[in-house]
Amino acid sequence: MTQFDIKKMLAGYDKKNLTIATVCSHSSLQIFNGARKEGFKTLGISVGEEKRFYDAFPLGRPDEFFIVDSYKDISRYASELQEKNVIVIPHGSFVEYLGAKNFLKLNLPTFGNRKVLLWESDRKRERQWLESAGLTMPREIKDPTKIDKPVIVKYHGAKGGKGFFIAKTYDEFIKRVDKDKPYIIQEFVMGTRYYLHYFYSPIQNNAYKLSKGSLQLLSMDRRDETTIDEVQRLGSIAELEEIGIHPTFVVTGNIPIVMRESLLPEVFRMGAAVVEKSLELFGGVIGSFCLETVVTEELKFKVFEISARIVAGTNPYISGSPYSELIQPDLSTGRRIAQEIKYANKRGLLHEILS
Ligand code: AMP
Repeated sequence: MTQFDIKKMLAGYDKKNLTIATVCSHSSLQIFNGARKEGFKTLGISVGEEKRFYDAFPLGRPDEFFIVDSYKDISRYASELQEKNVIVIPHGSFVEYLGAKNFLKLNLPTFGNRKVLLWESDRKRERQWLESAGLTMPREIKDPTKIDKPVIVKYHGAKGGKGFFIAKTYDEFIKRVDKDKPYIIQEFVMGTRYYLHYFYSPIQNNAYKLSKGSLQLLSMDRRDETTIDEVQRLGSIAELEEIGIHPTFVVTGNIPIVMRESLLPEVFRMGAAVVEKSLELFGGVIGSFCLETVVTEELKFKVFEISARIVAGTNPYISGSPYSELIQPDLSTGRRIAQEIKYANKRGLLHEILS
């Protein structure tokens, strides 16, 4: 990974004129809206043309569009963007469109710790991080002939759950699996899904206190996944599989949700443990991150994934969530990110939250 000297990168910046920038997709309406509420200029990076739908949302529209030929070569425009005092807010699609390698090489100040990518994008390292933090993950099944309970088969790098499938026996597995693509087999955890949206600040101590800084819970969602979430309209999964229709896990949207209050201590225990371990492993998962969980009927959490930046599940909460309302009215994750940058800028601490 290229190691930029963030202080050097910021040295030429006009700190009174910072611009918050992101790629026009994913959670960009929320990011631009939040930055605007905190008084920042905004810039939307878009391929080929200005995206017309932003005209319909004046409070989510960036002040300026920056048109590129392809996301892959945003790096080529780095010096032009530096002149605009741009701070980049990466989101899931940003990293995917750019590619992890290009993202790590992007010569622009970026919100959060880019080193997290090495831990999050490699399933083995991700498991090492989460399990050594004391979290419970779904069991991994190494030998498919040993499948004796429902499992979910996940292809590496599959976008939005595409191609994932459930198998209950070895026969079902072997019929469906595409052996040309690398995959893992995981216990299919029965329960209800909660995607928990945290915010970790290494520089503020006004929330759930950690060894360094503090942790907030801003919101939670449940993903809407097609076709699994509506498959019962046609019949039972077993009936459909008999005629060759298999449920899939492609994300199409996000549904707001709250959880029983008695589970919140565990939510904070898990979030805190993940941050503390990340500080030890790579200097910390800074800013927004999301734990993707299933809560079982014993009220135990199993964590199947971590996403180390703003997730699209925060989008239902542009004007605040039932949790963020208890921190400050009208507080979205996008706005919280802008606040962190503003706070750090005032105190000369930008290098602590950017990389
Ligand atoms: P992922 O790409 O790991 O986020 O998985 C995509 C979707 O598959 C999730 O949003 C869940 O609906 C489902 N899923 C993933 N892992 C599991 C699991 N171990 N048990 C049950 N459902 C899962």
